[in-house]
Order: sequence, then C-alpha cells, then structure tokens
Amino acid sequence: MRIIRTIAELRSELDARRAEGAIRHGFVPTMGALHEGHLSLVRAARAESDVVVLSIFVNPTQFTEAADLDGYPRQEAADAALAEAAGVDLIFAPEAAELYPAGFATTVHLAGPLTETLEGAKRGAAHFDGVATVVAKLLLAVRPEAAYFGQKDAQQLLVVRRMVTDLGIPTRIVACPTSRDADGLARSSRNVRLSAAEREQALAIPRALDAVTEAVARGETRVSALARAADAILDAAGIRPEYLAFVTPDHLAPVGEVTGPVLCAIAARVGAVRLIDNTELVPASPRTADTKE
Ligand code: AMP
Repeated sequence: MRIIRTIAELRSELDARRAEGAIRHGFVPTMGALHEGHLSLVRAARAESDVVVLSIFVNPTQFTEAADLDGYPRQEAADAALAEAAGVDLIFAPEAAELYPAGFATTVHLAGPLTETLEGAKRGAAHFDGVATVVAKLLLAVRPEAAYFGQKDAQQLLVVRRMVTDLGIPTRIVACPTSRDADGLARSSRNVRLSAAEREQALAIPRALDAVTEAVARGETRVSALARAADAILDAAGIRPEYLAFVTPDHLAPVGEVTGPVLCAIAARVGAVRLIDNTELVPASPRTADTKE
C-alpha cells in the first residue's frame, strides 16, 4: 500500500493501474482517525473495485469551530495500518496547500434546504460549502467509478449526491449503513474525546432513536408524540439536542406524520463533543384484514 501526497502522483499511479487493466476504482474519502465505520466503507469498496483509494484529509474549510479543528484526532501511522489490513491499495493524504494552493478562489455552493437546514443551520453555510468543495476536488483528483459515504452523515450524503448530479461528475455514489459500537453508539472519530461518563450520557441518543423506531412500529404516526418520547429520553440523560428533526429522507422537508419514509436526525453536544446520529423510520404496514375462509 502506498501513501501519496500529491494529485500529480495520484493521477499517474491510477493511470498506471488502469493501463494494467485495473479499471474499477473505488474511493473512500475520510478525515482519518479511522474506526470500524470507515472500514465498513472500505470493505464495501473492496468488494466491487479493482483498486481502493482512501483519502485522509482533515479539511479545514468545513470546520466552523477552531477548537473542533484543533482537537480533531490525527493518527496517520495507525490509520495506514488499519487501511492496509482492510484492503486499501492507495492512501491519498495531501497537505492543505496541495488542495488549496495560494490563490485558490473557487467554492462549490449548493443552495436550498439540503445545505441550509439541520447541520447547515447549526454549523453555518460554510460547512457544506467546505464539504462540497473538497469532495468535488477529491472526486476530480481520483476520478473513481464509485465513492462510498456513510448514512451516519445523511445530510452530507444528500449534498454529495446532488452535487455529483448537478456537476455531471461520473461517479456512482454508494450509501453505507451506520456502523455502531455494541452499546449502540454510532462510531465517530470524535467519540475518543468523550469521557466514560459522557459516553454513558451519549447513549441516550441511539436510545431515543430506538424508542422512536419502536413507537412507529407500534403504529404511532404523529411526529409530536414521537418527538415527546425522544425528548424525554434525551432530557433524562441531561441532553438538550441542537435539533431533533423529522424530515423527508430525500429533500429534508419537515413532516408532521410518518406516513412514508422519514429521516429522524439528532444533533447534540455531550460535554465538548458534538455528536450526530439518525435513523430512517418506515411506517408500520397497515394490518391486513383478517381473511375468512
Ligand atoms: P469522516 O472521517 O468522519 O469525515 O467520515 C468519512 C466517511 O465515513 C463519511 O462518509 C462518513 O459518513 C463515514 N462514516 C463515519 N462514521 C461512520 C459510521 N459510524 N458508520 C458508517 N459510516 C461512517
């Protein structure tokens, strides 16, 4: 496995692989501090690619808080070992100046609810500008046949899908399910910054999502009732969410009733760490009428 720092070197390596007949290139963009969630994306890429490229880049432009950027875990040597064991062929780990050279002046901006609600509303418009711009740059550098993203960042996934469609980038975007620790907490590079007590507290987030899922399975459709149930669980753990949203999974439009698929998304601070999680709700199938002989 090679670690590559420049776009020029990456291009020539990938061109060489293509010339040898390795034509299906799968790409997993990350900010490093790899965990099982990232590796599940790598495995999905490995299963359908000849060459798997993983990028590690803590993208400064998508951070809206300096402390979050400064405190973001960085561990390239450990990441390289994990990536290699999971089947990565090439790591692309550029310096910031490689992606944003002096004079850099372009921003990829998506308008509308996909970027302006939920994370966009809380973290500011700069967040998704940063995400869209860096993902566009990475996709143009790697030119993969497929790129793999986690459903954990459901809104990011929608933003990437929209951008790829709008700009005509010829990459298939593959969504991968959220990977969780045994206790239910969604895996995140930021989890290492939780104390044991905060981690315990954070478990209220998946518990709230589970409670909502179970209520929907029992036939509850009113978002007001679902939100009350989730809020009660978060409140009991001392968590005041930044948002607890019930929205359409494709357009992030708020809903009042779960009559079709609904994305339930939570963002909350636990101690100094900001966590996000979500689940897709599917209404209970209407009971089929008893059939009489
Ligand atoms: P990050 O390094 O946090 O920017 O994440 C890189 C990619 O890994 C994104 O597509 C994330 O959605 C995905 N990812 C992060 N955590 C998880 C998880 N727990 N399960 C599945 N995918 C994840």
